Order: sequence, then C-alpha cells, then structure tokens
Amino acid sequence: MSKRDYYEVLGVDRNASPEEIKKAYRKLARQYHPDVNKADPQAAEKFKEINEAYEVLSDPEKRRQYDQFGHAGVGQGPGFQGAGQGGFDFGDFGGIGDLFDMFFGGGRRRAGPERGADLEYDLTVEFREAAFGTEKEIRVPRTETCDRCGGSGARPGTRPERCPTCGGTGHQETVMNTPFGRVVNRRVCPTCRGEGRYIPEPCPKCGGRGQVRVMRTVQVKVPAGVDEGNRIRLAGHGEPGSRGGPPGDLYIVVHIRPDPFFERDEYDVHCRVPITFVQAALGDEIEVPTLEGRVKLKIPPGTQTGTSFRLKGKGIPRLRGGGRGDQHVHVVVVTPTKLSDRARELLRELGRELGEDTHEQGQTFFERMKAAFMREGTGRNG
Ligand SMILES: [Zn+2]
Ligand SMILES: [Zn+2]
Repeated sequence: MSKRDYYEVLGVDRNASPEEIKKAYRKLARQYHPDVNKADPQAAEKFKEINEAYEVLSDPEKRRQYDQFGHAGVGQGPGFQGAGQGGFDFGDFGGIGDLFDMFFGGGRRRAGPERGADLEYDLTVEFREAAFGTEKEIRVPRTETCDRCGGSGARPGTRPERCPTCGGTGHQETVMNTPFGRVVNRRVCPTCRGEGRYIPEPCPKCGGRGQVRVMRTVQVKVPAGVDEGNRIRLAGHGEPGSRGGPPGDLYIVVHIRPDPFFERDEYDVHCRVPITFVQAALGDEIEVPTLEGRVKLKIPPGTQTGTSFRLKGKGIPRLRGGGRGDQHVHVVVVTPTKLSDRARELLRELGRELGEDTHEQGQTFFERMKAAFMREGTGRNG
C-alpha cells in the first residue's frame, strides 16, 4: 500500500493553520475511533492513519520536513518500508529509477514488451503415421490483432484518446525533494491502468480489446518414431506478444490411435499370429504382416503356443535416427472347434498314437501341471 498524503488524510489544505488541523483531527478521530466502530474492521486502520498524520502535522518541525521531503522526510517513505505500490525514481541519477521500480514492484504493471502465452494442442495420429512420420494440417484457436480496428480497440473512424488523468504517461508522479535528491513517487494511473489512453467508442468486432480469437491453420511435421505423449514445439506459433513482445510457442502433444494388430513397446512392435496345431507340430512357413507389407516366417516343427519370433529391424524407426526396433511375432496355436466325423476319428487315432507322454517337451509340461494340482490339493487340505 502506498501512503496517502497526510493533508489528504485529515482533509485540510496545505496552508491549514494548527487550529484547523487540530479541529479536523478531533472530528475524524471521533468518527473513526475503534470504540464506536467495532463492526467496521477498516475503522481501526483509518484511525491509525489519522493519528499518524496528526502526529506529523501537529509538530511544526516534522510538518516542515514533511512539506519539503514528503513521507521520506519523516522516515515514512513507502519505498523504505519494502514493497510499495509506487516505485521510486531518483530522477537526478537517470536510469536508477528502473532498478527501483523492479525492487519495489512499481514497474510491474507498467507498459513494457511481454511475451505471448504458449499454446497446447492435442493431435491424434494413426499408428503407422507415428511410426513413419507424417505431415498434418491443424486448426488452432489463437488470439490475433483485430483486423477491424487494427488493434487499436477503437471503432473505425474514431481513435483512442489520451487518458485525461495521467496525460497519456500511464502513471502519476509526485515529485519530492529529499536529502538524497529529487524523488519521484510514481504509481500506475488508476483511470487507464497504465495504458495511457482510453477508448471512447469501442470497436464492435473486438469490443475494445484490440484482439480477436481466430482459427488458424498450422502445418505440423510429425517425425518418424514419435511416441504417445511426445511434444512437438512450434516456436513462435503461440499467442502474440503484447507491446512489441515476442509470440509464445505452440506445443503439439502427440497421441497415437491404437492399431488392432500391432502393439507398440517403445520402438518394438508385438503381434499375435494364429497357427493350426498341425502347423505347430509339423512346422511350416507362414506369411506375417509387418508395418510395411508381408514377410515369410518359418515355424519350426514342435512349436509351442506363445512362442515368439523376432523379426529384426521390422519395428519403429528410432526418433533420433539409429535404426529401427524389432517386431515380435507371438504364435497362438488355435484348437479346431468344428470337426467332421472323419476328423474326430483321426484325432482319436492320433491321440492313441501319441499317448500323453510321447513328446519330451509335452511330458515335462504335463508333469509340471500334475505337480501344481498336487500342491493345490495339499494347500487346500492343510
Ligand atoms: Zn477491433
Ligand atoms: Zn491514465
């Protein structure tokens, strides 16, 4: 909070006599005394302010100091108490003012170049598009300078006018002479909020803001190997900056539509391929889909269901170069469900021929299962 002028606090003018000051103080003190204003929390603050003003203005020496140097002259300068709303500007030293504005927050709302905000856009691409890269045209809502008023915010044919309160500077200044030199106490103009101008007739398209929301078409290059959640940065495609500041960036967040056949794990892809148990038992050469066409895959005799085969380099290209991942083919042995009488007879005969424990791998498998059943039994009983 910046300090109010003591004369203003007491409602007297600068030439007020000691009697007038005393009279004004008594009237205000009665009015804002905390005892009669218990319901109003601001009264106590006001009462404190009145007393502080009276303490200075009722003392001829302090009043003289205050008249000459302002609050700083009586050790009450807002800047010296920490963050004041008004920044200090030591006019005699030139550029130092900006430093003080920074420290005391006075420059916070002052008109200066400001970078535009970053934008984010969610882009869903197909599985193969993510693998091999693609180019997309997207429509992004963005704030742009209003074309009706050219960004002025004023109805065409009219123009923004200079703020009458601050004369167009955007801030109000009070000049004081202090032992340190000439001090300019500066605050943001309350009428125009630092803009220095006001718009008597706002532009009908943008309502005086000078900016409008528009849909913009942006070309996006999606690199090969991009993965779910990756972000692509398009520098300078965000919201425009204000007062000459640079625009923000546009971030494209990539999402990948799942593929019904392929599943991705980093740069590897996995798929499940069905084979008949005859193919599994006797071996075969089958055709397997890859991301780019079919390849032949040799199924060795005696292949178990769930066995996986690796197709080297048939996966996803690595994002930053360096080859490709692999494709893993998981075979699933499909048990026939519709059997003719003859097929059923042949299978029965096959069963008799094979028995339960002719195949070595099968044997250990069945034995492991038997052991599991036995463990389960003991578990239940014990
Ligand atoms: Zn406009
Ligand atoms: Zn103003």
